[in-house]
Amino acid sequence: MIVTFEPGVDDDVVAAVVRQAERYTGVEPKLHRFDGATEHITELHLVGDTMAVPTDDFESLPGVRRVVRVSTKYRIIGRHRPDDEAFGFEYNGVRFGRDELHVFAGLCAVDTRRHIDEMMRALAAQGVVTTRMGAYKPRTSPYDFQGLGAACLPWVFELAGRHGIKVVAMEVTHARHIDEIVEALDRAGEPTGVMLQIGTRNAQNFELLKVVGQQDRFPVLFKRGMGITLEESFNAAEYVANHGNPNIVFCLRGVKTHLGEPHRNLVDFGHVPVVLRQTRLPVCVDPSHSVGRPYVAADGLPDVFHAVGQGLIAGATMVLVDFHPEPEVALCDGPQALRVHQLPALLDYARRVRETYEAVVARGAG
Ligand code: PEP
Ligand code: MN
Repeated sequence: MIVTFEPGVDDDVVAAVVRQAERYTGVEPKLHRFDGATEHITELHLVGDTMAVPTDDFESLPGVRRVVRVSTKYRIIGRHRPDDEAFGFEYNGVRFGRDELHVFAGLCAVDTRRHIDEMMRALAAQGVVTTRMGAYKPRTSPYDFQGLGAACLPWVFELAGRHGIKVVAMEVTHARHIDEIVEALDRAGEPTGVMLQIGTRNAQNFELLKVVGQQDRFPVLFKRGMGITLEESFNAAEYVANHGNPNIVFCLRGVKTHLGEPHRNLVDFGHVPVVLRQTRLPVCVDPSHSVGRPYVAADGLPDVFHAVGQGLIAGATMVLVDFHPEPEVALCDGPQALRVHQLPALLDYARRVRETYEAVVARGAG
């Protein structure tokens, strides 16, 4: 059961409702506060045996806007009613939500300083302040390049600061990596920010999810598990929120099945509206790991471009996309990387599709 308070409710009014909830045995009240798209949200979640708790006991209390019984397990990130406010948050001066488009273009894996400098320079020239840079790479084979790890963080962050990059999406595969990122950022004087990425292989690494949930310095980019149901991925993302961090972006990145061939994965961006309907999270798409191939369609646009369009026309507001100054020498996922000279065209395409999405939504389906 979720009790939603009026915006700007006083703490003592909230405390009175908490006391009311505590009168029921077997019910644990947990208070949650989030940033919504337009207002701050305060909710009291009643967990446990709530079947015998009447909703009108709470509906009549001062400061309470409404009470809903929820059937889904992912109660914090879940969207339980059509008018539930979507989550949004600001991080390092950048606003994330369902109305703000951000393209995180960058290298799958950090390799040389020259490549990172070249990529970030291209982003800065386009006024882009977000990028992706992998330092810790979860690879299928232990003999493949594993990422430069903590060693590259000082110069990656320094270059990011120099080029005005505000948020770097960076995967972590172990709790230790968060400490290394914190240390490197602090040492460098915090020239940039980091969005902690949970990769598809760690989508159900519950201990890692708890750790990224227990910190609130960095927002979290959660990638759906490539071989589990969407519902299971929602429950996994709930671990992050449940441990204290609701600043989550939910990322679709394709699912593993040979039915997606000739692409690397089956592009699952048809699920964008499902995530927007069933959760309150902003949605990201990763066309690079979905398509995973350098193919160019008959119309001259790379398949990766088309996948970007498919995600954005369905309402996603963030794109994670691999680029590389020299894909042929990339140490990870070179074949799926776009070339740096393609950045302006991709940004233009993304913005046009987003504008079209907004116009289509404003027109409605009737
Ligand atoms: C990545 O973004 O670099 C990555 C490894 O993605 P995924 O976890 O979706 O495979
Ligand atoms: Mn990759």
